[in-house]
Amino acid sequence: MRILVVEDEIGLAEAVGAILRSEKYTVDIANDGQAGLEYALSEDYDCIILDIMLPKMNGLDVLSCLRVKEIETPVLLLTARSETDDKIKGLDCGADDYMTKPFSMGELLARVRAMTRRRSIVPDINPKYGDITLEMKKGEMICGGNSVALGRKEFQMLELLISNAGQITTKEQFVTKIWGSDDESEYNNVEVYISFLRKKLAMLHSDVQIKTRRGIGYCLEGAK
Ligand code: CA
Repeated sequence: MRILVVEDEIGLAEAVGAILRSEKYTVDIANDGQAGLEYALSEDYDCIILDIMLPKMNGLDVLSCLRVKEIETPVLLLTARSETDDKIKGLDCGADDYMTKPFSMGELLARVRAMTRRRSIVPDINPKYGDITLEMKKGEMICGGNSVALGRKEFQMLELLISNAGQITTKEQFVTKIWGSDDESEYNNVEVYISFLRKKLAMLHSDVQIKTRRGIGYCLEGAK
């Protein structure tokens, strides 16, 4: 597995590189956004770890550029605590996950494992619920004649909701199955993605709704 680390704090970049190499990953390091983009466009990586605040080109612009060029490599964004808005923007422009600095190397490895593992599983049945179908290969949600692209996390969350149809999916289940973590601070992420999904369901005029069961989790409604 080949991983690209784009981080301008040299010490941090080297430390991340060293821990990944010790886990047998092949690692390339870029220290500014422009170099990061060049690496990402010229090699096929299994995962990209991308800092947001970077010289020459910021991480969000690098990410947007990659997604525009249809490079779907999983991206883990690194953010400073003060960059909450960037975090939301990052998820919106196609990041798969993010971590707030400072983070532990153990947590980083867990995220990388979760991201690279998911990429290798390509099931071939398209889950359905009510009037919506998840098109696995294209990563789309279809309703009637319309479709909308889902980010990787959105897709996985909806898939989990569908596979648990008729029962409640807890925030804890989302966090363990999708983020590969058991950290309660991830619960906010679940809320962010649920709101993205609701917007997309509304956009397609679907009858399906994601209902909140306060303090417990979420469930789907709207299957006839
Ligand atoms: Ca930085």
